[in-house]
Amino acid sequence: MSPLTVLAPLSVEARAVRAGAPWAHVQRVGMGPRRAARGGAAVDADGGAVLIAGFAGALDPELAPGDVVLASELRGPTGTTRCPDPSILAGVLRRGGLRVRVGPIASSQRLVVRERRRTLQRTGALAVDMESAWLAPVAQGRPLVTLRVVLDTHRSELHRPLRTVAGAAVAYRTLRRACALAESWARALGPRQVVLAAPRASCAGVVRAVEVVERALEDRGAPVYVRRQIVHNAHVVTELERRGAIFVREVDEVPDGATVIFSAHGVSPAVRAAAAARGLDVIDATCPLVSKVHAEARRFAQAGREIVLVGHAEHEEVEGTRGEAPAHTRVVATPAEARALRVRDPERVAYLTQTTLSIDDTAEVVEALRERFPGLVGPVSSDICYATQNRQDAVRALASDCDLVLVVGSPNSSNSRRLVEVATRAGCAAALVDDATEIEPELLIDRHRIGLTAGASAPEALVQRVVGALAGLGGATVHERSVAREDVYFKLPPEVRRGV
Ligand code: SF4
Repeated sequence: MSPLTVLAPLSVEARAVRAGAPWAHVQRVGMGPRRAARGGAAVDADGGAVLIAGFAGALDPELAPGDVVLASELRGPTGTTRCPDPSILAGVLRRGGLRVRVGPIASSQRLVVRERRRTLQRTGALAVDMESAWLAPVAQGRPLVTLRVVLDTHRSELHRPLRTVAGAAVAYRTLRRACALAESWARALGPRQVVLAAPRASCAGVVRAVEVVERALEDRGAPVYVRRQIVHNAHVVTELERRGAIFVREVDEVPDGATVIFSAHGVSPAVRAAAAARGLDVIDATCPLVSKVHAEARRFAQAGREIVLVGHAEHEEVEGTRGEAPAHTRVVATPAEARALRVRDPERVAYLTQTTLSIDDTAEVVEALRERFPGLVGPVSSDICYATQNRQDAVRALASDCDLVLVVGSPNSSNSRRLVEVATRAGCAAALVDDATEIEPELLIDRHRIGLTAGASAPEALVQRVVGALAGLGGATVHERSVAREDVYFKLPPEVRRGV
């Protein structure tokens, strides 16, 4: 059985599909609503997924000939059909160099040109064709994806053949390439079980930091400046930028008199002093659990101890904590570095840790330090925060009976990368994805039980989109495996608190 039946209205479209995807079962159904309905009824989609592939007219003015549109829904004269989420295919095509948009496709009974095109454009549909809505019933509950390549736009309408010739060649080549690229996606089609780790996604410190920026934008108006990424998640940062936040590396990039927000990862006293010297309006979104580590650093330094800070030297949190006592702090990341460490007085050494480390790795480093420095002292309670601990416990609990663990998070998110390591160490293949479009379908081939979690900086909405994208491959049954309940809440800083 072919995993995919491709329905192509025109012979030229069927030719492009066959050239790109010789492995697929391709059926030509004919042009226009009547032929599509008749051809669709005769389709032998033998149990696999259905892909409608062909050309379309652009409605969105930003689309150009050769752009690919994947349908989020099909709008026809008799109603709308919701389509399974095509995000994984969209990612495959984009990585293959194609320009891809996901959105509504309208199906029309007649050629759409001039004023009719403008009217349809106002409905918000991205593109228009003359068959998809009539072909949709063929799927009968199986995954249905509609892939249309833009042939003509409002500047090169089909009633002006000379203008569409170049567009036709581009569209043909793109359709052929898109179908060739779709092979790995087609091989990953099929139903899956999704096991959600709990707790997962945004922690209390991240929720608070994002809310600080949102409230500052509401209260003070855009722009507000944020030193470094407020939290390590590309989607969160992009959304806040869209709303008027400007992210800078250092406070000297902030204009006089402006508001600057310190990120959840904390800052050194030197950064605070620089902002104060500039007279900036400062709002501190440092997570209270990071502030606790800063306080411990000050306490140990005042007691005359040399501080070994276990963490990654380049991470902003480590930069900030080390800044509390730069002359007394050494950073180590591995047991080997701990064993090689030279200190002024081996009797007076204290350790602290970054809040988002691997619990197992950190225990090994601290053990190596204890062997070197028997009088080693540490924090009263672990610096590795509750959110890090819970997310690692949760992913460990599901990794052993999953075929693959997906961790939603950005590459610069320390705690997200640690979740991948924890799953791998538990014997399960694991991958970090910033969002659903980053899922490589090769990872899913012959893997049916998928564990899913997200780092403390990734919003839950991204997790739900991954669930939707996995379901888009052929359905998903979803359940959650919980190892702990979280009800931690951190008060907002006074500068943005309301009702006090
Ligand atoms: S991961 Fe932990 S330390 Fe970092 S912001 Fe979240 S709660 Fe705070």
